[in-house]
Amino acid sequence: MGSRYQMQERFGPWGRAGQERLRQGRAVVVGLGVLGGTAAMLLARAGVGFLRLVDPDHPSLDNLHRQVLYSEQDVTAGRPKVEAGAAYLRSLNSEVSIETHQVALGPGNALDLLRGCGVVLDGLDSAAARYLLNEACLKLGIPLVHAGVIKAQGQLVVVRPGQGPCLRCWFPSRREPPASSAELGIIGPAAACLASLQTAEALKILVGAQDQVLEGLLSVDLWPPRFRTLEHRHWDRQACPACRGQYELLPGDSPGL
Ligand SMILES: [Zn+2]
Repeated sequence: MGSRYQMQERFGPWGRAGQERLRQGRAVVVGLGVLGGTAAMLLARAGVGFLRLVDPDHPSLDNLHRQVLYSEQDVTAGRPKVEAGAAYLRSLNSEVSIETHQVALGPGNALDLLRGCGVVLDGLDSAAARYLLNEACLKLGIPLVHAGVIKAQGQLVVVRPGQGPCLRCWFPSRREPPASSAELGIIGPAAACLASLQTAEALKILVGAQDQVLEGLLSVDLWPPRFRTLEHRHWDRQACPACRGQYELLPGDSPGL
């Protein structure tokens, strides 16, 4: 019988060395919904050694068409997403160490929730929380893999602190999106697609394939299918408060110009 990971180890750029790096890897998934739940599942199956799951909520029946971690029983029992998700992930791969936090990301806990991890996956659903996550990743110097999805389309950005544009560089306005998936809808394949792309970037970071990580903003539409990568042509670290270390959302920080 072959080993659990032999098929992905046969992928040349990954190999056994990459698998060992994954085993020692640490990832945090902030938000266990449509994106974070699928990403967490893929990370656990791939053999990432440590996963920290952060989410304050409970799954609901209208989550189940697109969220892979939860069952009808979880909804009926009112199990928190982190608890139901961790149980499912442990059933998939007992080699993965899973830590759960049933809390919302906030200014007071953001740094503690991310500290010690090698990559952060954004599974959040509000612009305000994403800006906070962006600042915390920049402050700690941890790569952030952002994805967003609505209707049948989405976007993907990898923030490499100090090496390229952050979320605020891409989206300078702090406005919330004009409409949410609750209003406009969302289809499962689009969510799974964006979560897969997001996970691929996180795995590249964890296996040490930094030169293969997405540069720019990947825009995806499934209806009809279209993939485009946009460049950020005028990144200026000093023009962005977050990139120059002026954290407006984290507590106790004076501008660090
Ligand atoms: Zn920035």
